[in-house]
Amino acid sequence: MSNLPKWDVQHHILPDFYVQELKKMGVSDIEGVRYPRWSIQSTLKLMKSWNIERAILSLSLPGVHFGDDVAACRLASQVNDEILAHKKRLGSQIGGFASLPLPNVKGALAEYERAVITEGLDGVILMSNVNGTYPGNEQYRPLFERMNADNGVVFIHPNTPVQSKGHGLINPFYTWFLDTTKAFLSLLTSGFHQDYPNIRYVFAHGGGFVSRLAADLELSDPKLAEELKLWRSQLFFDTAKFVTAEALNSLLSFTSSNRVLFSSDFPWASQNKMPYWTSKLEAKFADPKEPSEIYLKNSKALFDQGSNLPNLGDTLQSPKHDPVHAHAMPQALAEEISGLGIDASGIQWFKKESFTKESFEKESLSKTSVNISSTNQPMPVALDLPELWAQEKEKINRFITKYNHELSKLAGKHSGLFSAFGAVNISDPEAALTQIADCISSANISGLCLYPSINETALPTHEVILELSKAQLPIMIHPQDSTGAIILNEQKMVATQFMAELMYSGQIELFKKTHFILAHSAGTHRDIADSLGMLYYLRKQKWHLVRFAYDYFIKRKLKGESILLEAQWD
Ligand SMILES: [Zn+2]
Ligand SMILES: [Zn+2]
Repeated sequence: MSNLPKWDVQHHILPDFYVQELKKMGVSDIEGVRYPRWSIQSTLKLMKSWNIERAILSLSLPGVHFGDDVAACRLASQVNDEILAHKKRLGSQIGGFASLPLPNVKGALAEYERAVITEGLDGVILMSNVNGTYPGNEQYRPLFERMNADNGVVFIHPNTPVQSKGHGLINPFYTWFLDTTKAFLSLLTSGFHQDYPNIRYVFAHGGGFVSRLAADLELSDPKLAEELKLWRSQLFFDTAKFVTAEALNSLLSFTSSNRVLFSSDFPWASQNKMPYWTSKLEAKFADPKEPSEIYLKNSKALFDQGSNLPNLGDTLQSPKHDPVHAHAMPQALAEEISGLGIDASGIQWFKKESFTKESFEKESLSKTSVNISSTNQPMPVALDLPELWAQEKEKINRFITKYNHELSKLAGKHSGLFSAFGAVNISDPEAALTQIADCISSANISGLCLYPSINETALPTHEVILELSKAQLPIMIHPQDSTGAIILNEQKMVATQFMAELMYSGQIELFKKTHFILAHSAGTHRDIADSLGMLYYLRKQKWHLVRFAYDYFIKRKLKGESILLEAQWD
């Protein structure tokens, strides 16, 4: 089947002049990944081997703007001319997305007129952010107005966010997915989705975590969730690095398969990834009609039918997910909390009734119903006090000691009603070791809860990691601030970040017997579990790739990713 005719919507050029331009600025790799070699011949070879009838060429990250407006305009024109030259020579085999010198809007408008309107490229590629500016920026309105008038196609491609923490190889699978999702949200929250309804979008890599967002938005911002349903018909998603069953299931719960487009991400993804992409994609669908549409028909509809696309309707089958943890503050902490100057009005104080099934159905973390009895597991209870983490180290630790003590007391008194997860301040290694030891020795504490920071490396020191793994208690990873929708509150991504770093550092091996609960993560780790499984081997020496092929394809033996996939989440 993989020889079915295809269009490839994410197919990059990497001309020599561009590589040289970046070299002049001291850039020779992207997040540690060296520039692959590319020539139009390599593109044509791939197209021939995989029956790609048309490749829509574009420039990949980091795009064309490096702080100088004039230089960005020149580079954008040069890149677009390169694509146009191939298009002229090779005809219908080649399409293209024009690069624009954003955030220079005037320059972007001029280049849009030239490369898209006059010269006939198929649309534009926008980086998910340019030096921290996202596509829904107010300044960009004139450009979006112009593209709307033209029924334009916008391809959103990930770029490294400004605050990248340099996780090495985690970036392609975590940070870039996250940044694509942020770009998506910037268009939604700016109102561009309503103001410019004729624009059709293609989001790279399945939109990152977009499909995980819908259910969460329904809870945290129902109005925006309604608007999202209407906007959905204009949105397409490509399949590069997004073909695992987990990822595709998630995407197809958000959109119809006729909004999914095949892509290779060549040459950043090498030619030998193609059998993997196509076999995964084809394995997902029992009916061979769907892969053939993803390969070809859907792309043709996007480019040929203009904005006349059938409406996807407003029924969204986003799967509901029951909460697997709760918040409840022991009343005995009231004085400490006011002593820290924290407003107590939003705090959920411990009430025995909070832990009954009926109460959860009425006012739980989410409004989904919880069937506590179905698992017969008492609900884990975690500390949720965002303002605590801004306090001085000593104050945090003093509070945690008291909190763990009081929670343990309540758990002893109301045995079997809930399970107490002791808080651990992993940003302070010395205190963390004491807190872990205290929790282990307390008979009523049945789990540990960690609060990593999203702004730095999520992992604690190796010494703390070792103690955590030896504790043999379930571990919950909880954001410091759990308010609002996922991504709108980036903190909620911290559980996924933590697991990704644990995987990449190889320390996940220590947690083979640990049960993880990834709180407020919306399951985003599941979309990248498979890719992270590969990284687990890649971080070591090259020969481990052979090992990977053997374990993965022949033995179907999962390593670290099974820990990720077995983790509970809400
Ligand atoms: Zn790409
Ligand atoms: Zn929580």
